[in-house]
Amino acid sequence: MGMHRFHRAEVIDGKTFANGLLKSIETDVALLLAETGAAPGLAVVLVGDDPASAVYVASKHRQTVAAGMKSFEHRLPADTTQDQLMALIGALNQDPQVHGILVQLPLPRHLDPNLVIQAINPDKDVDGFHISNAGRLATGQPALIPCTPLGCMMLLHDRLGADLAGLNAVVLGKSNIVGKPMAQLLMSANCTVTVAHSKTRNTAELCRAADILVVAVGRPGLVRGEWIKPGAVVIDVGINRIVEDGKSRIVGDVAYAEAGHAAAITPVPGGVGPMTIACLLSNTLTAFRRQQGLVA
Ligand code: NAP
Repeated sequence: MGMHRFHRAEVIDGKTFANGLLKSIETDVALLLAETGAAPGLAVVLVGDDPASAVYVASKHRQTVAAGMKSFEHRLPADTTQDQLMALIGALNQDPQVHGILVQLPLPRHLDPNLVIQAINPDKDVDGFHISNAGRLATGQPALIPCTPLGCMMLLHDRLGADLAGLNAVVLGKSNIVGKPMAQLLMSANCTVTVAHSKTRNTAELCRAADILVVAVGRPGLVRGEWIKPGAVVIDVGINRIVEDGKSRIVGDVAYAEAGHAAAITPVPGGVGPMTIACLLSNTLTAFRRQQGLVA
């Protein structure tokens, strides 16, 4: 430990980075509107009245409009049938004003999220969850990339530069929405990638070899200071609500106070979180450009 306490990891300010990205998206949208007369449109579908989901959807709507894009909100009652939801997706797939479609998860239990996601036109799948986008990402073809890992990659490149080749990267967590696509992106960047999960035996030791450590587990403070290699860049994706001294607060998956010997670390909140919505709008812009034939 000794020397570690004399170092202070750089705080990776995701909020400021995300605001910069949103500004550049806004500028691009204005230019595209002037050039093509069309604005990117994002449709967000919310089924039921989960309060957390309602907050996310409202925030997405606000930021979509602020970026100069069209926002189409579809709020459906909790007893919406699978057929009704599939019919809406079909209509949005056909709608030329809609370039991106996002179905807010989780869905009420009687609805199958997989059927819904696979029904979205992959070119409009701005969450990047369709198997076609997962396959394109895995095979190095132009894809729509899940927003959270895309945001993590942007923060990593900002800190480490364009070339990540040869770095040891460890991803903790192997979910379809974060861990797996994160590992694919790091592999595409020519990192040496290790994916660890709940059955991994020597997790701490694997982490200690990581130049890049991305943690997406959902366990507050799981990653201790001694798991972190001095000089590593640590990306903490976790969002956990804990109650301490009667007060509720949000913490990550990394014991932040013990990570001073890292070169840089994302705080929670204010790290990866703000990047996710900014990347959703970035994906909507990408989807628009591809649908207009402006880029590959
Ligand atoms: P998830 O689907 O629950 O997956 C968690 C992963 O962590 C699984 O692969 C699981 O392993 C692994 N895991 C569980 N306990 C572990 C342990 N003790 N050691 C190593 N690995 C362990 O979660 P997720 O959707 O990927 O989300 C992960 C975290 O990120 C959550 O806190 C979530 O709230 C947060 N999140 C944040 C954002 C954002 O915008 N910042 C976006 C999405 C998610 P198994 O596969 O073996 O079960």
